Amino acid sequence: MTSNPLDTRAWIAAAKRFVRLRRRFWLSFVGGWLVFGIFGLPLFLLDDGMNGVVRGILGGITFVGGSGCWLGAVVARHHLFHFRCPRCESTFVMSWTSHSFPTSRCKHCGLDLRAAAMA
Ligand SMILES: [Zn+2]
Repeated sequence: MTSNPLDTRAWIAAAKRFVRLRRRFWLSFVGGWLVFGIFGLPLFLLDDGMNGVVRGILGGITFVGGSGCWLGAVVARHHLFHFRCPRCESTFVMSWTSHSFPTSRCKHCGLDLRAAAMA
């Protein structure tokens, strides 16, 4: 693990990028569940009593919208897990010694990006 002197502008830019990635991940993940729940659930509950056109529209919205949201979540998660800490340059949320839940604190050096993201 290397340690770099921390440039404030780089720190703030990294913090904003990290917060944006984490927000994009959670919005996409929850959005996918909402799309499947709101548009897909009636397909299963009202299968026989539903017009074919309405069923097709709901199915299209469910498949395209839900899949798109979860694809966005997968891409955001990939970028989030490969995000580099601006101070120690290690992966910010991935560690062998602790959980990999994306918090605002580096798993390697303990740098907290929450305060910089507020700037
Ligand atoms: Zn770090």
